[in-house]
Amino acid sequence: MSKWSRMEKELELLKEKNLFRNMTIFDSAQSTQVMVEGEQRYLFSSNSYLDMCNDSKVKEYAAGVMDEYGIGSGGSRLTTGTSRIHIQLEAVIAALKKREAALVFNTGYMANAGIISALTRKGDVIYSDELNHASIIDGCRLSKADLVIYRHNDMKDLEKKIRANPGRCGLIVSDGVFSMDGDIVNLPGLVELANRYELLSMIDEAHATGVIGATGRGTEEYYSMEGSVDVLMGTLSKSIGSEGGFVCGSHTLIQYLINKARSFLFSTALSPVSMAASIQGIRQIMECPQRVRKLQDNIRYCCEALKKRGINAFSETAIIPVIIGDEGRAMEIMELLKQRSYYISAIRYPTVAKGSARLRITLMSSHTPKEIDGLADALAACMMNANER
Ligand code: PMP
Repeated sequence: MSKWSRMEKELELLKEKNLFRNMTIFDSAQSTQVMVEGEQRYLFSSNSYLDMCNDSKVKEYAAGVMDEYGIGSGGSRLTTGTSRIHIQLEAVIAALKKREAALVFNTGYMANAGIISALTRKGDVIYSDELNHASIIDGCRLSKADLVIYRHNDMKDLEKKIRANPGRCGLIVSDGVFSMDGDIVNLPGLVELANRYELLSMIDEAHATGVIGATGRGTEEYYSMEGSVDVLMGTLSKSIGSEGGFVCGSHTLIQYLINKARSFLFSTALSPVSMAASIQGIRQIMECPQRVRKLQDNIRYCCEALKKRGINAFSETAIIPVIIGDEGRAMEIMELLKQRSYYISAIRYPTVAKGSARLRITLMSSHTPKEIDGLADALAACMMNANER
């Protein structure tokens, strides 16, 4: 037995179960068409929903900031790492989300880990949706509070569980748009329960910002409930096309997190270049709501196109999951799609439950109806071919 044998065995097991993972290498900017594994492919699996990763205005603005501020930030936010650009970005995020203040973290993952563990303490209860993102789960794991999982988007189950813990402080946390299913949180129900039982409400806007609501401001705008969530968290890495995480809310919340969130305190601040890209990306959303509308049109068009070809698909968000079930079959369809020049990621356990593997189609505002029809044709054919095996 060598010291590596445990790892080797585990890796073999993953391979046997079709759960072994590799990285796919892209040789171009992330947009509707990409160079991947040496081939040009139509990309229908990126989180760059507004096609902002390669936007010329964003790149120009970021390049100007790079000239002035350089590359690295040189320190953590509370030592030497806060540049004027960070402050500007936080003001733009607060304006987008209509809040008193905002705070940027290095990633969405770090935001969730830092916020949840800072806001809750021993004796508290965290109520978390069973389909919440892994970064929320890990934030809960870092917290000393007790964790209670409620059934997906089920407000009756949530209330029952809150009532089983009378008088205890805590937090209800949910994705706004669920990352692997593309459905939307029952915000009216969640906020009502949080207020009635004097719990903090926290929503993760990673897949909602730039996607839902008439002008892309996210879950609160979708429900016309602006200002109702206590802790509004999000990422800059999806529709905004850059990188970083954020939280926004009251001055008290932000000051508390600046002082208490360990993932904020103890990590070098993001590069001014990424911050600048985020500022310009958010401006594009605020100044150009047509881009969001184009994405929303594409979502409707794609669901229709899939249905016409007999594929069960419904979504109001940029995430359209096509549930396959078997992990091996999902991987096979993904490979067949590649042969037809389409790239869609197959999502498997542990990202989703065992036996619920899926193809996670995501749309961009810049996909054309022709490209979407092409994808629907190819997917229908590949699902049929995989069936026959
Ligand atoms: N929350 C959700 C719902 C996500 O889907 C993700 C990323 N997949 C994150 C948080 C983490 O964000 P980031 O990628 O910026 O770390």
